[in-house]
Amino acid sequence: MTPTLPRNPSLPTSLSADPWQTHPARIVAIRAESPGVTSYDLEIRDSRFRAQYGFAPGQFNMLYLPGIGEAAISISSDPAQPDLLTHTVRAVGNVTDALARRAVGDEILLRGPYGRPWPLEDHAGRDIIFVAGGLGLASQRAAILAIANKRAGFGRVVVIHGAKQPDGLLYSSEYDVWRRAGIEVDLTVDVAAPGWTGPVGFVTARLADLADGGSSPGVLCCGPDPMMAAVAGVAGARGIGPEDVWVSLERNMSCAVGQCGLCQFGPFFVCLDGPVFRHDRVARYLGVACL
Ligand SMILES: Cc1cc2nc3c(=O)[nH]c(=O)nc-3n(C[C@H](O)[C@H](O)[C@H](O)COP(=O)(O)OP(=O)(O)OC[C@H]3O[C@@H](n4cnc5c(N)ncnc54)[C@H](O)[C@@H]3O)c2cc1C
Repeated sequence: MTPTLPRNPSLPTSLSADPWQTHPARIVAIRAESPGVTSYDLEIRDSRFRAQYGFAPGQFNMLYLPGIGEAAISISSDPAQPDLLTHTVRAVGNVTDALARRAVGDEILLRGPYGRPWPLEDHAGRDIIFVAGGLGLASQRAAILAIANKRAGFGRVVVIHGAKQPDGLLYSSEYDVWRRAGIEVDLTVDVAAPGWTGPVGFVTARLADLADGGSSPGVLCCGPDPMMAAVAGVAGARGIGPEDVWVSLERNMSCAVGQCGLCQFGPFFVCLDGPVFRHDRVARYLGVACL
Protein backbone atom coordinates (compact mmCIF):
# COMPACT_ATOMS: atom_id res chain seq x y z
CA MET A 1 0.00 0.00 0.00
CA THR A 2 1.24 3.48 -0.77
CA PRO A 3 2.36 5.20 2.44
CA THR A 4 0.64 8.45 3.15
CA LEU A 5 1.69 11.20 5.47
CA PRO A 6 -0.95 13.67 6.58
CA ARG A 7 0.01 17.27 5.97
CA ASN A 8 0.49 19.25 9.12
CA PRO A 9 -1.95 22.16 8.93
CA SER A 10 -0.44 23.78 12.00
CA LEU A 11 2.77 24.49 10.11
CA PRO A 12 2.59 27.58 7.95
CA THR A 13 3.84 26.94 4.43
CA SER A 14 5.12 30.47 4.55
CA LEU A 15 4.62 33.45 6.78
CA SER A 16 3.38 35.56 3.91
CA ALA A 17 -0.26 35.54 2.88
CA ASP A 18 1.13 35.11 -0.64
CA PRO A 19 3.61 32.21 -0.52
CA TRP A 20 5.32 33.52 -3.69
CA GLN A 21 6.08 36.87 -2.08
CA THR A 22 9.80 37.47 -1.83
CA HIS A 23 11.44 39.80 0.67
CA PRO A 24 14.70 41.75 0.29
CA ALA A 25 17.47 40.60 2.61
CA ARG A 26 20.90 42.18 3.06
CA ILE A 27 24.05 40.10 3.35
CA VAL A 28 25.60 41.28 6.63
CA ALA A 29 28.43 38.74 6.91
CA ILE A 30 30.12 36.11 4.76
CA ARG A 31 32.28 33.27 6.13
CA ALA A 32 34.23 30.65 4.23
CA GLU A 33 33.39 27.31 5.89
CA SER A 34 35.21 24.77 3.73
CA PRO A 35 36.39 24.66 0.11
CA GLY A 36 33.44 25.80 -2.03
CA VAL A 37 31.13 26.20 0.98
CA THR A 38 30.27 29.62 2.40
CA SER A 39 27.93 30.90 5.11
CA TYR A 40 25.88 34.05 4.51
CA ASP A 41 24.25 35.92 7.39
CA LEU A 42 21.13 37.65 6.07
CA GLU A 43 19.02 40.38 7.61
CA ILE A 44 15.49 40.82 6.30
CA ARG A 45 15.09 44.49 5.32
CA ASP A 46 11.35 44.92 5.88
CA SER A 47 11.12 45.50 9.64
CA ARG A 48 7.53 44.23 9.83
CA PHE A 49 8.31 40.98 8.08
CA ARG A 50 11.52 40.65 10.10
CA ALA A 51 9.56 41.04 13.33
CA GLN A 52 7.09 38.32 12.43
CA TYR A 53 9.64 35.94 10.90
CA GLY A 54 10.37 32.75 12.81
CA PHE A 55 11.45 29.28 11.83
CA ALA A 56 11.91 25.82 13.29
CA PRO A 57 15.20 23.87 12.96
CA GLY A 58 15.24 21.91 9.72
CA GLN A 59 13.16 24.37 7.71
CA PHE A 60 14.52 26.13 4.64
CA ASN A 61 14.19 29.37 2.69
CA MET A 62 14.10 29.90 -1.04
CA LEU A 63 16.93 32.31 -1.90
CA TYR A 64 16.24 34.30 -5.06
CA LEU A 65 18.71 36.16 -7.23
CA PRO A 66 16.63 38.11 -9.77
CA GLY A 67 17.45 37.23 -13.34
CA ILE A 68 19.21 34.03 -12.24
CA GLY A 69 16.83 31.91 -10.19
CA GLU A 70 15.97 30.47 -6.80
CA ALA A 71 17.51 27.72 -4.65
CA ALA A 72 16.22 25.96 -1.53
CA ILE A 73 18.71 26.46 1.29
CA SER A 74 18.41 25.26 4.91
CA ILE A 75 18.30 27.87 7.64
CA SER A 76 21.40 27.15 9.72
CA SER A 77 21.22 29.78 12.43
CA ASP A 78 19.84 29.93 15.95
CA PRO A 79 16.02 29.91 15.82
CA ALA A 80 16.00 32.07 18.94
CA GLN A 81 17.57 34.88 16.86
CA PRO A 82 15.52 34.91 13.66
CA ASP A 83 16.56 38.48 12.87
CA LEU A 84 19.86 37.09 11.56
CA LEU A 85 19.45 34.14 9.20
CA THR A 86 22.47 32.04 8.31
CA HIS A 87 22.51 29.99 5.11
CA THR A 88 25.48 27.74 4.38
CA VAL A 89 25.81 27.17 0.67
CA ARG A 90 27.91 25.00 -1.63
CA ALA A 91 28.47 26.66 -5.00
CA VAL A 92 27.25 24.02 -7.45
CA GLY A 93 25.15 25.77 -10.08
CA ASN A 94 23.38 28.86 -11.33
CA VAL A 95 22.09 30.44 -8.12
CA THR A 96 24.72 29.23 -5.72
CA ASP A 97 27.59 30.26 -8.05
CA ALA A 98 26.05 33.72 -8.45
CA LEU A 99 25.58 33.98 -4.69
CA ALA A 100 29.29 33.22 -4.27
CA ARG A 101 30.01 36.40 -6.24
CA ARG A 102 27.93 38.58 -3.88
CA ALA A 103 29.56 40.73 -1.18
CA VAL A 104 28.64 42.02 2.26
CA GLY A 105 26.05 44.78 1.84
CA ASP A 106 24.49 43.27 -1.31
CA GLU A 107 20.80 42.45 -1.32
CA ILE A 108 19.15 39.23 -2.38
CA LEU A 109 15.52 38.10 -2.04
CA LEU A 110 14.11 35.31 0.08
CA ARG A 111 10.81 33.64 0.79
CA GLY A 112 9.98 31.15 3.49
CA PRO A 113 10.35 29.47 5.85
CA TYR A 114 9.14 26.22 4.33
CA GLY A 115 8.99 22.55 5.20
CA ARG A 116 8.63 20.23 8.13
CA PRO A 117 11.29 20.63 10.84
CA TRP A 118 13.31 18.09 12.80
CA PRO A 119 11.06 16.45 15.43
CA LEU A 120 12.82 18.01 18.42
CA GLU A 121 9.66 18.43 20.47
CA ASP A 122 8.84 14.74 20.05
CA HIS A 123 12.29 13.94 21.43
CA ALA A 124 12.21 16.30 24.40
CA GLY A 125 13.90 14.71 27.41
CA ARG A 126 15.46 11.99 25.29
CA ASP A 127 18.90 11.26 23.81
CA ILE A 128 19.54 12.54 20.30
CA ILE A 129 22.25 11.51 17.86
CA PHE A 130 22.79 13.81 14.88
CA VAL A 131 24.55 12.14 11.97
CA ALA A 132 25.73 14.53 9.27
CA GLY A 133 27.67 13.86 6.12
CA GLY A 134 29.41 16.94 4.71
CA LEU A 135 27.02 19.79 4.02
CA GLY A 136 24.25 17.82 5.78
CA LEU A 137 25.34 19.53 8.99
CA ALA A 138 23.91 22.79 7.61
CA SER A 139 20.38 21.43 7.99
CA GLN A 140 21.15 20.36 11.58
CA ARG A 141 23.02 23.36 12.97
CA ALA A 142 19.83 25.22 13.91
CA ALA A 143 18.67 22.14 15.85
CA ILE A 144 22.04 21.84 17.60
CA LEU A 145 21.90 25.52 18.60
CA ALA A 146 18.28 25.16 19.78
CA ILE A 147 19.28 22.21 21.97
CA ALA A 148 22.30 24.11 23.31
CA ASN A 149 19.89 26.87 24.36
CA LYS A 150 17.66 24.39 26.19
CA ARG A 151 20.23 21.79 27.11
CA ALA A 152 18.39 20.57 30.20
CA GLY A 153 15.42 19.66 28.00
CA PHE A 154 17.27 16.74 26.36
CA GLY A 155 19.30 13.71 27.41
CA ARG A 156 22.65 12.82 25.90
CA VAL A 157 23.26 14.69 22.62
CA VAL A 158 25.91 13.56 20.15
CA VAL A 159 26.86 15.12 16.82
CA ILE A 160 28.58 12.64 14.50
CA HIS A 161 29.94 14.60 11.55
CA GLY A 162 31.95 13.20 8.69
CA ALA A 163 33.61 14.74 5.67
CA LYS A 164 35.78 13.45 2.86
CA GLN A 165 38.78 15.36 4.24
CA PRO A 166 39.39 17.40 7.41
CA ASP A 167 38.96 20.71 5.59
CA GLY A 168 35.43 19.62 4.62
CA LEU A 169 34.24 19.53 8.24
CA LEU A 170 31.72 22.34 8.71
CA TYR A 171 31.53 24.92 11.52
CA SER A 172 34.83 23.69 12.97
CA SER A 173 35.31 26.90 14.99
CA GLU A 174 32.13 26.09 16.95
CA TYR A 175 32.82 22.54 18.17
CA ASP A 176 34.33 23.71 21.46
CA VAL A 177 31.31 25.93 22.11
CA TRP A 178 28.98 23.00 21.46
CA ARG A 179 31.09 20.78 23.73
CA ARG A 180 30.96 23.37 26.50
CA ALA A 181 27.16 23.29 26.12
CA GLY A 182 27.25 19.57 26.89
CA ILE A 183 27.01 18.28 23.32
CA GLU A 184 29.41 15.52 22.28
CA VAL A 185 31.05 16.16 18.92
CA ASP A 186 32.42 13.10 17.15
CA LEU A 187 34.31 13.83 13.91
CA THR A 188 35.56 11.50 11.24
CA VAL A 189 37.05 11.82 7.75
CA ASP A 190 37.24 9.45 4.78
CA VAL A 191 40.85 10.40 4.08
CA ALA A 192 43.25 11.80 6.68
CA ALA A 193 45.46 14.78 5.99
CA PRO A 194 48.69 15.90 7.71
CA GLY A 195 47.84 16.91 11.26
CA TRP A 196 44.60 14.91 11.47
CA THR A 197 44.67 12.77 14.61
CA GLY A 198 40.99 11.80 14.72
CA PRO A 199 39.26 8.72 13.35
CA VAL A 200 39.33 7.80 9.66
CA GLY A 201 36.21 6.10 8.33
CA PHE A 202 32.53 6.61 7.71
CA VAL A 203 29.98 8.10 10.09
CA THR A 204 28.28 4.71 10.16
CA ALA A 205 31.34 3.24 11.90
CA ARG A 206 31.22 6.02 14.50
CA LEU A 207 27.52 5.36 15.08
CA ALA A 208 28.13 1.62 15.38
CA ASP A 209 30.96 2.19 17.89
CA LEU A 210 29.18 4.82 19.99
CA ALA A 211 28.95 3.74 23.60
CA ASP A 212 25.42 2.75 24.51
CA GLY A 213 23.78 5.58 26.44
CA GLY A 214 21.32 3.18 28.05
CA SER A 215 18.21 4.59 26.42
CA SER A 216 16.93 4.50 22.86
CA PRO A 217 17.92 7.76 21.15
CA GLY A 218 16.42 9.60 18.22
CA VAL A 219 18.73 9.56 15.21
CA LEU A 220 18.50 12.65 12.99
CA CYS A 221 20.46 12.22 9.79
CA CYS A 222 21.32 14.32 6.74
CA GLY A 223 23.73 13.50 3.95
CA PRO A 224 23.91 11.59 0.69
CA ASP A 225 21.17 8.97 0.18
CA PRO A 226 23.47 5.93 0.51
CA MET A 227 24.84 7.34 3.78
CA MET A 228 21.35 7.88 5.20
CA ALA A 229 20.31 4.36 4.20
CA ALA A 230 23.44 2.95 5.85
CA VAL A 231 22.88 5.01 9.01
CA ALA A 232 19.33 3.69 9.26
CA GLY A 233 20.71 0.16 8.94
CA VAL A 234 23.21 0.69 11.76
CA ALA A 235 20.53 2.35 13.91
CA GLY A 236 18.29 -0.67 13.39
CA ALA A 237 21.14 -3.00 14.32
CA ARG A 238 21.54 -1.00 17.55
CA GLY A 239 17.89 -1.64 18.32
CA ILE A 240 16.72 1.89 17.55
CA GLY A 241 13.14 1.67 16.32
CA PRO A 242 12.06 2.95 12.89
CA GLU A 243 9.96 5.65 14.55
CA ASP A 244 13.18 7.19 15.87
CA VAL A 245 15.22 7.48 12.68
CA TRP A 246 14.67 10.70 10.71
CA VAL A 247 16.29 11.98 7.53
CA SER A 248 16.30 15.28 5.70
CA LEU A 249 16.12 15.07 1.92
CA GLU A 250 17.69 17.66 -0.34
CA ARG A 251 16.10 17.30 -3.72
CA ASN A 252 16.00 19.73 -6.61
CA MET A 253 13.12 22.00 -5.84
CA SER A 254 11.43 24.80 -7.70
CA CYS A 255 8.26 26.25 -6.19
CA ALA A 256 8.56 25.02 -2.56
CA VAL A 257 4.78 25.24 -2.17
CA GLY A 258 3.57 21.96 -3.67
CA GLN A 259 2.55 23.37 -7.04
CA CYS A 260 5.20 22.35 -9.57
CA GLY A 261 5.89 18.71 -8.71
CA LEU A 262 9.66 18.91 -9.29
CA CYS A 263 10.45 17.57 -5.82
CA GLN A 264 7.92 14.74 -5.98
CA PHE A 265 9.34 11.75 -4.11
CA GLY A 266 7.09 8.73 -4.45
CA PRO A 267 3.75 9.89 -3.05
CA PHE A 268 5.35 12.83 -1.28
CA PHE A 269 6.40 16.35 -2.14
CA VAL A 270 9.69 17.08 -0.39
CA CYS A 271 8.72 20.76 -0.05
CA LEU A 272 5.44 20.10 1.82
CA ASP A 273 5.81 16.66 3.36
CA GLY A 274 9.54 17.09 4.08
CA PRO A 275 12.35 17.83 3.86
CA VAL A 276 12.46 15.96 7.19
CA PHE A 277 10.87 12.51 6.96
CA ARG A 278 10.74 9.48 9.17
CA HIS A 279 13.22 7.21 7.42
CA ASP A 280 10.95 4.18 7.07
CA ARG A 281 8.37 6.26 5.21
CA VAL A 282 10.80 7.15 2.43
CA ALA A 283 13.34 4.31 2.61
CA ARG A 284 12.19 2.63 -0.55
CA TYR A 285 12.59 5.84 -2.59
CA LEU A 286 16.10 6.69 -1.40
CA GLY A 287 18.51 6.02 -4.21
CA VAL A 288 15.84 6.37 -6.90
CA ALA A 289 17.31 8.73 -9.49
CA CYS A 290 15.69 12.14 -9.35
CA LEU A 291 15.75 15.35 -11.33
C1 LIG B 1 15.17 21.38 1.56
C2 LIG B 1 16.50 21.64 0.92
C3 LIG B 1 17.50 22.23 1.64
C4 LIG B 1 18.73 22.48 1.05
N1 LIG B 1 19.70 23.08 1.79
C5 LIG B 1 20.87 23.39 1.21
C6 LIG B 1 21.88 24.07 1.96
O1 LIG B 1 21.72 24.35 3.15
N2 LIG B 1 23.02 24.37 1.32
C7 LIG B 1 23.24 24.08 -0.01
O2 LIG B 1 24.30 24.41 -0.54
N3 LIG B 1 22.31 23.41 -0.74
C8 LIG B 1 21.13 23.08 -0.16
N4 LIG B 1 20.18 22.46 -0.91
C9 LIG B 1 20.48 22.08 -2.30
C10 LIG B 1 20.27 23.27 -3.25
O3 LIG B 1 18.91 23.67 -3.21
C11 LIG B 1 20.64 22.79 -4.66
O4 LIG B 1 22.01 22.51 -4.71
C12 LIG B 1 20.27 23.80 -5.71
O5 LIG B 1 20.00 23.12 -6.92
C13 LIG B 1 21.35 24.79 -5.99
O6 LIG B 1 20.85 25.71 -6.96
P1 LIG B 1 21.74 26.23 -8.15
O7 LIG B 1 20.85 27.07 -9.02
O8 LIG B 1 22.98 26.86 -7.67
O9 LIG B 1 22.18 24.92 -8.87
P2 LIG B 1 21.55 24.29 -10.15
O10 LIG B 1 21.88 25.14 -11.35
O11 LIG B 1 20.14 23.98 -9.88
O12 LIG B 1 22.43 22.97 -10.26
C14 LIG B 1 22.61 22.08 -9.14
C15 LIG B 1 22.92 20.67 -9.65
O13 LIG B 1 21.69 19.99 -9.85
C16 LIG B 1 21.55 19.70 -11.22
N5 LIG B 1 20.16 20.05 -11.59
C17 LIG B 1 19.48 21.14 -11.20
N6 LIG B 1 18.24 21.13 -11.68
C18 LIG B 1 18.13 20.02 -12.42
C19 LIG B 1 17.09 19.45 -13.20
N7 LIG B 1 15.91 20.03 -13.33
N8 LIG B 1 17.34 18.29 -13.83
C20 LIG B 1 18.53 17.69 -13.71
N9 LIG B 1 19.56 18.17 -12.98
C21 LIG B 1 19.36 19.31 -12.36
C22 LIG B 1 22.57 20.53 -11.96
O14 LIG B 1 23.03 19.90 -13.12
C23 LIG B 1 23.68 20.63 -10.93
O15 LIG B 1 24.46 19.46 -10.93
C24 LIG B 1 18.96 22.16 -0.33
C25 LIG B 1 17.93 21.57 -1.07
C26 LIG B 1 16.71 21.31 -0.45
C27 LIG B 1 15.61 20.69 -1.24
